[in-house]
Amino acid sequence: MPHIDDETLALCALGEDVLDPAQRDHLAGCPACAATVRDLERVSARMRAPGTAPELVPPGPEVWARVHAELGLGDVPASQPPDQAPAPVTDQLATRRARRSWVPALVAACTALVLGLVGGVLWERRTLEPAETTVASATLDPLPDWAGSSGEAVLRTTADGRREIVVSVDAPAPEGTYREVWLLTPDVSGLVSLGVLESGEGRFDVPEGLDLAAYSVVDVSEEPLDGDPAHSSDSVVRGSLAT
Ligand SMILES: [Zn+2]
Repeated sequence: MPHIDDETLALCALGEDVLDPAQRDHLAGCPACAATVRDLERVSARMRAPGTAPELVPPGPEVWARVHAELGLGDVPASQPPDQAPAPVTDQLATRRARRSWVPALVAACTALVLGLVGGVLWERRTLEPAETTVASATLDPLPDWAGSSGEAVLRTTADGRREIVVSVDAPAPEGTYREVWLLTPDVSGLVSLGVLESGEGRFDVPEGLDLAAYSVVDVSEEPLDGDPAHSSDSVVRGSLAT
């Protein structure tokens, strides 16, 4: 079995129970993976202890190699940190200085690596959890007076169970008018206003209980500023919601 991936090891280090049995066996028998988890644990423990001065422990070479790769560092040997590389000058003071200069950088790099890995995992999880589910959509076609215009409507259910329609329209917008979004019955015997479309795109809540099987047509009208709440009969684009 190949080594366990970085994201999983980072979660392990954060105490999450993410290993399957095969991975657990691998971790028990693989010094490289185990060392990585230990190193990441040390970094994350340090990050979690507010106010405590960090005890700086050089991580194993494979962590350095990973940090090195992650940060795209230059020609430093990727297999070991600078102070473990053969030192051309064996002066104690120089070595100590070198250690002081790279250790905080390495801790910062490890921290960035852990945060990056964990952030990446959380991001993936978030994108996997559907906050909104697309239920139906409609291509909005132009009416004859509005040739060349186009639009789209997407019906979604939100995480808390509401229904909303996202409408986008690409059409010229004459001055002194505004756009209104409606749901119509196919024979136009019934219509419900969803609201004003301020820019090219807007989200509209569907009234609770409204039967979208009956009110299945999305319509966007051009409305004059005349104070009349009724549909102007000047539809720009229109389309039927389909699953
Ligand atoms: Zn391994």
